[in-house]
Amino acid sequence: MNKSYDALIVGGGVMGCSIQYNLAERGMNRSLLFEKDVLGSGSTSRSQAILRMHYSNPETAMMAWESLKIFRNFEEITGVSSGYTQTGYLLAVPEHYRNPMLQNLQMQQHLGIDVNEVDSRFVQDLGLNAYPEEAEAYAWEPLSGFADPYSVTLGYANRSREFECEIQVESEVKGISIDRDKVVGVKTTDGDVYSDKVVVAAGPWSAPLLKEVGLDFGIETVRHQVFLLDRGEGPANKIPIIGDVSLNFSARPDIGNVIMVGVGEDEVVGPNEYNQSVDTDMLVKTQADLARRIPGLPDASFVGGWSGLFTVTPDWHPILSSIEGIEGLYVAIGFSGHGFKLSPMIGQVMSEIILGQESKSVDVSSLGANRFKEGQLMKSRYDMQVLA
Ligand SMILES: Cc1cc2nc3c(=O)[nH]c(=O)nc-3n(C[C@H](O)[C@H](O)[C@H](O)COP(=O)(O)OP(=O)(O)OC[C@H]3O[C@@H](n4cnc5c(N)ncnc54)[C@H](O)[C@@H]3O)c2cc1C
Repeated sequence: MNKSYDALIVGGGVMGCSIQYNLAERGMNRSLLFEKDVLGSGSTSRSQAILRMHYSNPETAMMAWESLKIFRNFEEITGVSSGYTQTGYLLAVPEHYRNPMLQNLQMQQHLGIDVNEVDSRFVQDLGLNAYPEEAEAYAWEPLSGFADPYSVTLGYANRSREFECEIQVESEVKGISIDRDKVVGVKTTDGDVYSDKVVVAAGPWSAPLLKEVGLDFGIETVRHQVFLLDRGEGPANKIPIIGDVSLNFSARPDIGNVIMVGVGEDEVVGPNEYNQSVDTDMLVKTQADLARRIPGLPDASFVGGWSGLFTVTPDWHPILSSIEGIEGLYVAIGFSGHGFKLSPMIGQVMSEIILGQESKSVDVSSLGANRFKEGQLMKSRYDMQVLA
């Protein structure tokens, strides 16, 4: 396969597909995307796909907000619905986080995001338990919700194909080819392919690929468990999405009366060998925690679950940049457990970086690859890292 392209993209998750589409939309359609399995088969297919805009930094809050607008308008852009379902997002934090939360709300409001502090009465009116006696604080984002990661990934891929971009599934990139500090292409299971631009968006498998060319950003892959619990009664849509810092879980409604709950962010595992199922002891603990927040949960039955991987940088924020010292190499990696909600804007800012050296729509210069060695890590106002 000795062909040459304007850009090669490694990874057919939501990020690689969003980047390829956004490059094509800006005129670069001679690109080839490699996916070693099938599109969306990595972290994307395991995502809870929660869309919220609560962040500690304006860069990520802004990308989440601009992405939400794209999710809502996705069918017009790609011909496929994103599955955006508006539920509202409730953030619950212990009292000692009230001031940090209020600082985040102020920053969000400044960006035009609809969010407010609410009281325990409001929480009870949502059909949830509030714990004023344990002194909690709450924030409410009415426009937030969830979407369908497969539809979004395939929506981007379909549009890219209409732009005549190429996508090759079941084709693994084995190495990045570099000649005198410049990218010249990739080595794949089907042969060498040439380009002076290579974008790594390989999710949990990015670190080993980059290590081969001498790059180590301290990335780890962390197991996150997802449980499906059927409440058996009451309209499930009445439950909004809950980001529960007090009880350490995130929950969203799923089909019918099923609630989808995500837990765990500290079990470091290898991307090719980890338990993709869920743990019984974690199920018991999660069910008990959830029952404190959602009335009726003690009787809920376990109807399924899975584990997936967060790809985590030292500050739990992504790396979106070119690579100093290797001309033509770009990375969009390290999205931990909050990448899906940013994916439309990740494609946009990466295409701006690739085509024009800097992102114009949102300034992501603080998310560069050099920040770790320069000690300029991003900060979160919370210990629950995935909240970032
Ligand atoms: C359990 C779980 C829950 C989550 N919940 C949320 C949530 O509620 N909200 C949210 O915003 N985010 C959430 N996330 C995070 C979000 O899903 C990810 O940030 C996002 O899907 C990352 O997409 P990606 O394209 O970077 O990675 P991936 O989806 O992993 O895609 C990478 C792709 O690259 C391919 N690949 C790897 N190496 C190679 C190679 N050498 N050659 C060719 N192909 C290769 C892989 O097969 C894979 O398909 C969650 C993640 C998990 C695991």
